[in-house]
Amino acid sequence: MSKVILITGASRGIGRSAAILAGARGWSVGVNYASNRAAADETVAAVEAAGGMAIAIEGDVSDEAAIIAMFDATEHAFGKLDGVVNNAGIVAPGSMLADMDIARMKRMFDVNVLGAYLCAREAARRMMTSRGGKGGSLVNISSAAARIGGPGEYVDYAGSKGAIDTLTLGLAKELGRDGVRVNAIRPGLIETDIHASGGKPDRAQQLGVTTPIGRPGTADEVGESIVWLLSDAASYVTGAILDVAGGR
Ligand code: NAP
Repeated sequence: MSKVILITGASRGIGRSAAILAGARGWSVGVNYASNRAAADETVAAVEAAGGMAIAIEGDVSDEAAIIAMFDATEHAFGKLDGVVNNAGIVAPGSMLADMDIARMKRMFDVNVLGAYLCAREAARRMMTSRGGKGGSLVNISSAAARIGGPGEYVDYAGSKGAIDTLTLGLAKELGRDGVRVNAIRPGLIETDIHASGGKPDRAQQLGVTTPIGRPGTADEVGESIVWLLSDAASYVTGAILDVAGGR
């Protein structure tokens, strides 16, 4: 069955892979991005080449009005939503908590926590059957850092992802009878640009060999689990937190 999906942060990395895999199933995708229009346009073209439909939508998930606008744009283009992937997220350069300033921590929690909660709220409002929605699937992208804690690198980021796990557990219970499944994925060390934005472009390669599987993961390997959770094949899965982390 064809689906309408919104993916935040879909211009690059894990969100991009999920968008293209959704396109391969013939689904329609709202491709949200923060500022990299060229990357978003490339993702849209790749979704279309894979067999789906897509539009690029600029918007910072820390901005409530931008979130509402990206949901509106997706539904205006393709119809009522069947699924949302709460994927946009940031890291910051490795640091001890003792050396972090408030601007860094505020931005981390504004994007990774408040942004994800507001996107989840908007997804609930639009997909709950009691509010006129069709029901659907919300997939929250957490991190293995939520379990590990990110010591010496980013305990702020790890804590922001802990909030995503807790959101998933609570919201799944809140929305179960409203036809909305809510699950999370905790990726491990995945080869994307995010490590460069934290100042360590080779981080996934270097640490990936220490995982039980012995290598970093790819964005497609996470994307596959995202589209499965979005799909009807996962119809009895809710409140689950799936580690896609090579055993880490
Ligand atoms: P990435 O390669 O750095 O890509 C980030 C994406 O998010 C880009 O599309 C970017 O848009 C967008 N974005 C960033 N800030 C945004 C904002 N404020 N509003 C809207 N979009 C925003 O990241 P990734 O590695 O694919 O990570 C995706 C998710 O997986 C994140 O939540 C991350 O925490 C999580 N994760 C990643 C790993 C890993 O090893 N890669 C591990 C665990 C968890 P622009 O292109 O416009 O900048």
